[in-house]
Amino acid sequence: SSSQTLKPLTPHTARSLVDSVDAFLFDCDGVIWKGDKLIERVPEALRTLRSMGKKLFFVTNNSTKSRKQYTKKFSTLGLEVSEEEVFSSSFAAAMFLKLNKFPREKKVYVFGEEGIMEELKLAGFECLGGPEDGKKNITLKSNYHFDHDKNVGAVIVGLDHHINYYKIQYATLCIRENPGCLFIATNRDATGNLTDLQEWPGAGCMVATVCASTEKEPIVVGKPSTFMMDFLQERFQIETSRMCMVGDRLDTDILFGQNAGCKTLLVLSGSRSNTPTNRRLGDKNSFVI
Ligand code: PLP
Ligand code: CA
Repeated sequence: SSSQTLKPLTPHTARSLVDSVDAFLFDCDGVIWKGDKLIERVPEALRTLRSMGKKLFFVTNNSTKSRKQYTKKFSTLGLEVSEEEVFSSSFAAAMFLKLNKFPREKKVYVFGEEGIMEELKLAGFECLGGPEDGKKNITLKSNYHFDHDKNVGAVIVGLDHHINYYKIQYATLCIRENPGCLFIATNRDATGNLTDLQEWPGAGCMVATVCASTEKEPIVVGKPSTFMMDFLQERFQIETSRMCMVGDRLDTDILFGQNAGCKTLLVLSGSRSNTPTNRRLGDKNSFVI
């Protein structure tokens, strides 16, 4: 809220912040790494916080990997992080279905990548779609009919760098024609650092195609929705007021932390603080920096 004050991080404010929390939640891209490059001094910071007995969690909106794949990525970068400490929007999507007792006999259509497919399979759900879907040719002749599976009860949309017209049609038909079909978005980020040097269109773009064609809004499980926080809190029993969310984006990370009642820390190691939404939010709110 506007009553919060923006405090620059000094040795003094850093100390009182660290003393006031039991857990740190780290956004990944822009905070831990940028693309595939580790951000400098992260290993030291994590080591120091662990040695002080702080619990660490890693919360990423990037749905292209599963928790297991993230654990590997951390390890490749020389960071020891367990699967239990990783909260990715791919995992969140699978947990959402599980917690909402999504019927096992129904299927999930994935307009997204391997991370979502893997998490759904691990959670015991049958899925179709995925990155390879839609390689078939669509011939738009007058008598062409596009068939979709009537047993799809949920569509999950996340970043898909093989986005195509077929997938949009498939997702659209499921949502429009299958009674009660859920429309779930892993996240709506405008952009992402798919490569180290450049930002690319994010999952928000895939989600927007399906919003436009169905005229429906999705359930979002990634930041800034508090779904992952509720899940994490339930499992680890930490008061949100004793948590600090560290992020590089105001519209996902900082809002996520604020929505949940956490302390927040904005870092400037990310590259996308300068988006229109962030600028607008930044005018209204102030954050600990
Ligand atoms: N989605 C995609 C596809 C991305 O590439 C990224 C960052 O690289 C993100 C989301 C944001 O991830 P994070 O929440 O870790 O910043
Ligand atoms: Ca980020």
